[in-house]
Amino acid sequence: MTDSIKKRLDALRPSLGAAKLVAVSKGHGGERMREALDAGQRIFGENRVQEAEAKWPELKAQYADVELHLIGPLQTNKVRDALAVFDVIHTLDRERLVDALAEAFAKGAQRVPCLIQVNTGLEEQKAGVAPEDVGALLGYARKAGVEVIGLMCIPPVDEEAAAHFALLRALAEKHGLQELSMGMSGDYREAVAEGATLVRIGTAIFGDRSI
Ligand SMILES: *Cc1c(COP(=O)(O)O)cnc(C)c1O
Repeated sequence: MTDSIKKRLDALRPSLGAAKLVAVSKGHGGERMREALDAGQRIFGENRVQEAEAKWPELKAQYADVELHLIGPLQTNKVRDALAVFDVIHTLDRERLVDALAEAFAKGAQRVPCLIQVNTGLEEQKAGVAPEDVGALLGYARKAGVEVIGLMCIPPVDEEAAAHFALLRALAEKHGLQELSMGMSGDYREAVAEGATLVRIGTAIFGDRSI
């Protein structure tokens, strides 16, 4: 088992180019995370605040250079908790969340950089702002003192991911944003080809999830 996570990480890294690997550990326990840590992985992603709070504080105390990224939706009443454990938020998607972050920062919470989640497929059930609304939310966040460093998307499952990645890159260029969080186990190659700077990979590293 120790070998297999290390081997998977070693096999992945060359195909990621300059993109940073966010190892998505949701649904996996401490033992596997430790294997990834021992293999040198330092950036991790979780999609639930509560799960991250249960799993990460102890490991973060042991591995001081770990960076934890929130890649799932954030409720405003969870903002304080999220800021206590996460170092980057990929899912900024509405003004009320900007307000909640700004309020928490003002009260002394860790100031973390954010990415705006874009609903590139305009899917009803998916979070994120419409592509044409990126500028408005970006302006709102800047005014509130919330740092936005890039954009994130999750393409529709039944469409060519590459077109969505290209759209996200074009939007980032238009708005002068550096970071592009795109690509998962099934489509990271396409994402890297379109200029991803952060790829979020779970299954290809840790195997199938229990939840
Ligand atoms: C779970 C998840 C991933 C990782 O997905 P895999 O297919 O396991 O690589 C990436 N991004 C988000 C937002 C996720 O929720």
